[in-house]
Amino acid sequence: MTDIPQLTLARDPHENEFIQAVSDVMTSVRPVLEKTPEYRHHSIVERIVEPERVITFRVPWIDDMGQVRVNRGFRVEMNSAIGPYKGGLRFHPSVNQSILKFLAFEHVFKNALTTLPLGGGAGGTDFDPKGKSDGEVMRFCQSFMAELFRHIGANTDVPEGDIGVGSREIGYLFGMYRKLKNKFTGVLTGKGLGWGGSLIRPEAAGFGCVYFAAQMLATRNDALSGKTCLVSGSGNVAQATTRKLIEMGAKVVTLSDSSGHIYDEAGIDAEKLAFVSRLKNIRRGRLSEYADQYPHAVYAPAAPGQASNPLWRHRAQCVFPCATQNEIRKADAYHLINNNVKLVCEGASMPCTADARYIFIDKGILYAPSKAANAGGVAVSGLELTQNSIRLTWLGEEVDNRLKIIMKGLHDTCLAAADAYGSPGNYLVGANIAGFIKVADSMLDQGII
Ligand code: NDP
Repeated sequence: MTDIPQLTLARDPHENEFIQAVSDVMTSVRPVLEKTPEYRHHSIVERIVEPERVITFRVPWIDDMGQVRVNRGFRVEMNSAIGPYKGGLRFHPSVNQSILKFLAFEHVFKNALTTLPLGGGAGGTDFDPKGKSDGEVMRFCQSFMAELFRHIGANTDVPEGDIGVGSREIGYLFGMYRKLKNKFTGVLTGKGLGWGGSLIRPEAAGFGCVYFAAQMLATRNDALSGKTCLVSGSGNVAQATTRKLIEMGAKVVTLSDSSGHIYDEAGIDAEKLAFVSRLKNIRRGRLSEYADQYPHAVYAPAAPGQASNPLWRHRAQCVFPCATQNEIRKADAYHLINNNVKLVCEGASMPCTADARYIFIDKGILYAPSKAANAGGVAVSGLELTQNSIRLTWLGEEVDNRLKIIMKGLHDTCLAAADAYGSPGNYLVGANIAGFIKVADSMLDQGII
């Protein structure tokens, strides 16, 4: 905490997730600040933690019963020093300004690490798409875009999906933007393949996460093949992570949703994963149905309020949290270590608490922070924008090859930065330092704005 400018804490004492994300970066970059007086002289830290703009708006919509409902919409435009704001839209009842500021802040450094010219932002709403009809989701998305369209644009701010926002929501949002602006531009990424989307975009965060994990294991002459893996979540990132792990010869034994998790000792193979994809993406059902379909699998309901999550008590060498923030806590970290975990690679945004991540690092576990490990999603979003502006669609193989190159570069950048600042092998420090320096130097070049 001592490294967070007092101003931030005093201004936003209740924004726990944002303070956690700021604290994480500021702790890592302390040696950089000590070596670079210009950053202090130009108040880079004080400026970097303050969003350039926060937009809050009312989203009225009509449900299937004819009742008018009202939700709250947000867009946090955090930093555009290296490119247009870029980051997800989250539709989830837990959404508030703190969560979106943390996501936007993470995106600033994550996007910088990809080497693409993208700034950082995030947005969303407390609307819950779960249990809503397609018509309700469409009317909500149209109302949300009726305000958001004023603030975004292909060269200004380019949203993409996050929790609760998949291809259906991006479609409705894009349709409304196009109607209001009378323009067909790459203003959102994650678009459908027939109307400007990129091959591999839906899979990119998960695939990239597995490529990053493979690079980490290679530094210890090890590989994913034959490893037992725990994956949490069952949405976009979890499905793609599982698919790539299966392709690379690993065995995935868990998946989860907010109601509970399944444990399948035999491993989730391609056929079982296809069942999960249909269940979650089309029927929008609950994961408990997996155990009805495959009775040898065990379903355990979630146990909110407990200090640890039973999912992380299973034995595995590699762990991929792909659901939400702070899902691996201190007690979970100790369970995983007692079960000889070798690698923790974050597919979700900030899924480990600060306690948990320092436990992994102290014990010498290979630990990849989300701003590096899941950067494949935003990287391929950047490639989607490039394809939109040159009006071409690259083959899936070409996009996947570029993704592999970006993830390898990102991995090596993290290691080099960690080495240069006296923390060899520490991916957390390396990612924070490399991302911070790129953004801070750009801010210095552009004056006090
Ligand atoms: P989805 O909405 O597709 O899936 C989210 C999954 O996590 C669902 O299984 C959901 O369960 C579960 N989940 C959500 N909230 C909670 C909660 N509070 N407790 C337990 N489980 C929960 O989202 P994505 O897969 O797109 O995103 C997952 C994570 O990955 C997020 O942290 C996001 O920021 C990050 N990410 C996403 C990228 C993308 O391109 N989509 C890119 C980079 C990072 P249920 O169905 O019950 O809600």
